[in-house]
Amino acid sequence: MQNKKYIGAHVSASGGVENAPVNAAAIGATAFALFTKNQKQWYSKPLTDENIENFKANCEKHGYSPEQILPHDSYLINLGHPEEEGLTKSRRAFLDEMQRCEQLGITMLNFHPGSHLKKISEDDCLQRIAESVNMVLEKTKGVTAVIENTAGQGSNMGYRFEHLARIIELTDDKSRVGVCLDTCHSWAAGYDFGSEEGYEKLWKDFDDIVGLQYLKGMHLNDAKKELGSRVDRHAPLGEGFIGKEGFIRLMKDPRFDGIPMILETPEPDIWDKEIAWLQSHV
Ligand SMILES: [Zn+2]
Ligand SMILES: [Zn+2]
Repeated sequence: MQNKKYIGAHVSASGGVENAPVNAAAIGATAFALFTKNQKQWYSKPLTDENIENFKANCEKHGYSPEQILPHDSYLINLGHPEEEGLTKSRRAFLDEMQRCEQLGITMLNFHPGSHLKKISEDDCLQRIAESVNMVLEKTKGVTAVIENTAGQGSNMGYRFEHLARIIELTDDKSRVGVCLDTCHSWAAGYDFGSEEGYEKLWKDFDDIVGLQYLKGMHLNDAKKELGSRVDRHAPLGEGFIGKEGFIRLMKDPRFDGIPMILETPEPDIWDKEIAWLQSHV
């Protein structure tokens, strides 16, 4: 049986969300990520009927079904915020993003778990994140909240698989929570993805601690810093410390068929080549 890998990049939605599938098709992507609103602002205009209809029409035209689309939430949102005001604002913004996904017929939203800002304990922060997820899942339908593992910079949670497992454990509706594994982030957090033993161990640990059934997507990035640096700097595939072999191994691994794999590498001009290179190893 042939492997089926969905491979793409986090493409621009500038000028309207409906442009994202067009931009993805132009680089030969079979998956894509996008921001459904300006990621650096708290408030954005609601989507218009025209945005929504054109987004759906362009997805259909270029052959993208919901399982190939993994939007990313705003960088401002902190669902584990230690203070009431920041937490409320984040929850409101996250709900808005989940509702945008609902409107667009998108079934997943990828988010960064949150940061304790050195004001509460790590577990308090994880509990707040799970509570945020519960609140938002209760108010929405059909969209899965997909937790992204982090590099563990500053006070960001989500750098240990145990953190992801803890959030899932505390989530009421486990059918609508998942994980997106970023290869640069896991590398920075100390999980080796490059060597054969490292690759096998990473996925075994992931399965033992989180459960492979929760893996809903991946971010494919090489890493500019050493293993365990806790510093988040993406490199083009094969040009960082992870190296090409880990990505080739992933392409040949049928366990990861049918989920969106998204490049967030720093040179959009070569995304088409990176996608073609990955596809050549499937
Ligand atoms: Zn991210
Ligand atoms: Zn990153």
